[in-house]
Amino acid sequence: MLGYYPLALLTALFCISYGLSFIWIKIGKAYYASYHCLITAFTHFMIYSTVIFDRNAGFQWFLIAIIPASFLMLPNASRWHHFMFAVAVMLGMTVSEIGLHYEPLFDFPTDYRTVSIFIEGILLVITLNLAMEMSNKAIDKYRAKLTTLSQKDELTQIPNRRFFMSSIKHYAINTKQTHFILTLDLDHFKKINDQYGHATGDDALIHVANTINQIIPKGTLFARLGGEEFALLCQTDFKKHAIAIAEEIKEAIATHHLTSTEGEHFYCTASIGVAQLTQNDSLSMQLSDKALYQAKAQGRNCVVFAEHDIKEVETNEP
Ligand code: GH3
Ligand code: MG
Ligand code: MG
Repeated sequence: MLGYYPLALLTALFCISYGLSFIWIKIGKAYYASYHCLITAFTHFMIYSTVIFDRNAGFQWFLIAIIPASFLMLPNASRWHHFMFAVAVMLGMTVSEIGLHYEPLFDFPTDYRTVSIFIEGILLVITLNLAMEMSNKAIDKYRAKLTTLSQKDELTQIPNRRFFMSSIKHYAINTKQTHFILTLDLDHFKKINDQYGHATGDDALIHVANTINQIIPKGTLFARLGGEEFALLCQTDFKKHAIAIAEEIKEAIATHHLTSTEGEHFYCTASIGVAQLTQNDSLSMQLSDKALYQAKAQGRNCVVFAEHDIKEVETNEP
């Protein structure tokens, strides 16, 4: 017979193993945490109900909890995995009922059976709850990451069209402050691709996005709508401020040289349409687009303001 120290050591080792689930969570692998926790629980109760004590200790009954726990903690696992856990549990319980051919290491005092089952049951519930909590947290974090990714443009790392459109819808309805939409399209960008290659075109888009990001006022929403088209949402009470921002962006783009993959320097220009954001966000967007079209028609590398009903803005002019 062994003393109680090895038993205490074994229990401590199982506690450490349960604790390791937290490490999986910390490194963002909630899926592994759930498997780790379930397999630890299985091993724990198997060893306790067969090797350490005999079946009278009742530890084998906790194995049953692993079946619902596998569904709760691994909601996306295949049915095959849940089936495997269930089969393992049934086998484990059968082995425990039949008993191994050798004697267990400890005689379990029958008087302690109820207390032991009660304590182990509470521990199991706490452990599984903790594991579920950890998994949920990791899933929430993963969801938040996915949301951020779905709102970002992969190439330039600025917000994408989806984010821009939902933001202007939100501002159009929820804010009383005056905002202006600036739509920007790079001029003859196809020629840049044709002349210097697609990789240089991609670099140019990143460079232009960085240039714009460096000069726009704080709080301005700047997004890539797609291709070589960008959009900004600026908060200012005055039309002439919005136009000044657009002019500054136009100048910054036109004066910053770009470099091809072969090391050649070249320049790129942009046409910009500006319109005030009204409660009708899609109409405002159309107006800004129309102004951009006019800027293209006027020879490119220029800014055009969409002249529509902007009385309230003009009366605010300083
Ligand atoms: P315009 O002045 O009328 O706007 O002429 P443009 O050549 O810029 O316009 P057009 O719409 O004819 O062509 C846009 C080009 O932008 C076509 C495509 O090759 C290029 N483009 C769009 N998206 C990307 C991208 O992600 N990377 C690169 N390198 N090129 C892109
Ligand atoms: Mg275009
Ligand atoms: Mg273009």
